[in-house]
Amino acid sequence: MIEQLASANGRRPAPISIYRALDYLLEHGLVHRLATRNAFVACGHRHSASEPILFLICDSCGKVDEATSPDLAVSLGAAANSAGFHTRNCVIELAGRCAACREQHL
Ligand SMILES: [Zn+2]
Ligand SMILES: [Zn+2]
Repeated sequence: MIEQLASANGRRPAPISIYRALDYLLEHGLVHRLATRNAFVACGHRHSASEPILFLICDSCGKVDEATSPDLAVSLGAAANSAGFHTRNCVIELAGRCAACREQHL
């Protein structure tokens, strides 16, 4: 038991404080996590952390735009509530082409 604890401590990676900091930022909506890219995006918006976030990810140049939709917040909130579910975080990722890339391909 003591040995197990010791080896667990020994293996504990140093950058754990970085993950803690990221957790904090994520929790407060200052940073969003892009699941499909395994990346983090700093958020310059002042939306609430519980608001659904739309990421518009360009397949072509990799640009990521962020949008929120109050309508979506209402309908998703209603759907979650009727299931008795409390939403902590809602991120929707849309893949496609950004305006600049679409123009280039016209
Ligand atoms: Zn944001
Ligand atoms: Zn693009």
